[in-house]
Amino acid sequence: MSKYWSPLVRSLTPYVPGEQPQLAKLVKLNTNENPYGPSPKVLAALAQAANDDLRLYPDPEARLLKQAIAGAHGVAAKQVFVGNGSDEVLAHAFLALLKQPEPLLFPDITYSFYPVYCRLYGIDSRSVPLTDDFQIAVEDYFSGGGAIILANPNAPTGCLLGLDQIERLLEARADAVVLIDEAYIDFGGPPIPTAVPLIERHPNLLVVQTLSKSRSLAGLRVGFALGQAPLIEALERVKNSFNSYPLGRLAIAGAVAAIEDQAYFEQTCAAVIDSREHLVRALAALGFAVLPSQANFIFARHPRHDAATLAAALRARGIVVRHFAAPRIEQFLRISIGSDAQCAALLAALQEIIV
Ligand SMILES: *Cc1c(COP(=O)(O)O)cnc(C)c1O
Repeated sequence: MSKYWSPLVRSLTPYVPGEQPQLAKLVKLNTNENPYGPSPKVLAALAQAANDDLRLYPDPEARLLKQAIAGAHGVAAKQVFVGNGSDEVLAHAFLALLKQPEPLLFPDITYSFYPVYCRLYGIDSRSVPLTDDFQIAVEDYFSGGGAIILANPNAPTGCLLGLDQIERLLEARADAVVLIDEAYIDFGGPPIPTAVPLIERHPNLLVVQTLSKSRSLAGLRVGFALGQAPLIEALERVKNSFNSYPLGRLAIAGAVAAIEDQAYFEQTCAAVIDSREHLVRALAALGFAVLPSQANFIFARHPRHDAATLAAALRARGIVVRHFAAPRIEQFLRISIGSDAQCAALLAALQEIIV
């Protein structure tokens, strides 16, 4: 705290990202990164783009990337917005679309960045409790509120809301923007249960995705939003009032190559899903209760072991998982799906701890 801080900065409670430990030896299962590297074609594209052109500003519209994303998702380029990670895309959406006279609605248990954006932008919000089994009941959003944001699959639960339910919500709330944050949707397939096909029928739908998880590019910082052109235009207006060049030349080149390498994407997603199913079975055998996950992480609790104690015991064995000291979920651990070797190390450590 300093007397030089603005009143707004004094009032903020910033988001706390999962630890990025500097010790290379740790088994890092705390921030939902992909255990597999990016496509070799991405690395080649980055190497090729690392040239004298870096003295020039990038294309402020990132047109090549918008075209690639539009092609992959069967929408028009003017229905695509791109940003420096989906966190930035979400931030712009909060200001451009979700800040309304009536409060923004989101679940009591969800991505903890949402309330942070609300405080930054002075957005009133109302949290809507998940059901007792940690599911979203769309009826709870049918009245009140000026806009809605849902992560699907939800974080940190990993639970998926069906497309039929999302469509019911879009129809019941044609008066309000419904933002679906699909950071983990690619791990819910195949076929991938994305809400993107609903865009053409629903002018109030904005879908946000990221290359950080399923495309193994958390370090490159690329995210995007898809929606009908008027919603995208609102995002462009905020972006062009903030930073005209959110994506650098390297980010654009790498992201285009990642979107184009569909085979690698499918293969790595399938491997993560396979490891998840194996891990869920092994954890259940150790007595864990695991929520049904369609993401690249699982949310689990053990009826006889305190979650914070388990997290500390894993940490002492060089394994980092995420624990949230928050109401209703303080007895859960969120564990990212690692490589097979990392999953095996986790299970071996838990076997030792639980006995
Ligand atoms: C990881 C994550 C994001 C943000 O990812 P970026 O790396 O900023 O693209 C957004 N929403 C949810 C729910 C996430 O878990």
